Amino acid sequence: MAERLDPQALLELVQQRQIDEIASIEDKAVKAATEKRFALIDDASRSATVNWVKAFGSMSAEGTGSLLGDLIASALKASNTSLKGLETSAFSALTEAVGGSVTTATAQGAAFVEGATGKAAAARVAVPAPDLAEERAALKAAVADGEKGFKALLKRTVVERLGLRGILGGLSQARQAITRAKSTISTGINKSVQKTMQATATANKAPQEVWVAERDACTRCLKYAGQIVDKGKDWTGGQSWDPNQVDKNAPGVRPPLHPNCRCRPVPWNPAWAKPGEVSLPEAISREAERSVARGFSLASESNASRVRALKELLSGSPNLPKTVLERARRDLRNGEFARGRAVP
Ligand SMILES: [Zn+2]
Repeated sequence: MAERLDPQALLELVQQRQIDEIASIEDKAVKAATEKRFALIDDASRSATVNWVKAFGSMSAEGTGSLLGDLIASALKASNTSLKGLETSAFSALTEAVGGSVTTATAQGAAFVEGATGKAAAARVAVPAPDLAEERAALKAAVADGEKGFKALLKRTVVERLGLRGILGGLSQARQAITRAKSTISTGINKSVQKTMQATATANKAPQEVWVAERDACTRCLKYAGQIVDKGKDWTGGQSWDPNQVDKNAPGVRPPLHPNCRCRPVPWNPAWAKPGEVSLPEAISREAERSVARGFSLASESNASRVRALKELLSGSPNLPKTVLERARRDLRNGEFARGRAVP
């Protein structure tokens, strides 16, 4: 028997448990395809630095002679090895993870619909067959660019001119290719989740979709949290809580909004809301406003951006508890988040 969940419980289900489940599939795939390769390049960069200083006296010293040739050769070898087979292994990790995430997301969609309605979800969800042609091309391009990049730098003439920076620059070109492969895997998985959720909306005759963001999503994703569109339509592009990031001319968007974005659309039907109860979309946007008020974020976001977002939030009329608002106003005056920005 399906049991209806109250909006807060439903939010916890979609925002935490379900997003976390997919995140662990994603982490596993990324690890399988890239972990050893990152380690190899990072080791090579460390030993290049140590060996350079040993051979030539300091990091800024010029490199000469046969020792220089040896250092270039080992950087080339590490770069080649780190990218060898990357396209194939990343693609197979991605394919497997997409299979797993479609199965998982299909079950998640059904659990969500049952929680939202208290009724059995549609038994058949027509998820389109995954098309990974774009991802395959992206992986190929990442490897090709990486190889071109490190080969251009790891040359005697170049390293004689740039010194250790040339060697490290070459290795970082290889590293960037691995980073791009990592993003391609993540985005491919999250795209398959969003397609599954859209198919779930169709199967359950939900006329709309609502955007669910992670609690520590960026200021752009948090702006979308709780926003509703007609099923299959784009959300208005270029939105953000940080006014500096707003782009009025941006084309429409659907999640994932950026690499590492784990936002997802979930089916929505206004008839699922109970009169007198905070609706799920309202609960989602309230949670997002709370995240902006508290300054929750990832390390990659600047304090300045989160403070601008907070200012923007407080200039409106956020529906937040008094204590949260008081603390937020104090943080804004101080220009920093007194409790730090980590999600508890
Ligand atoms: Zn996102």
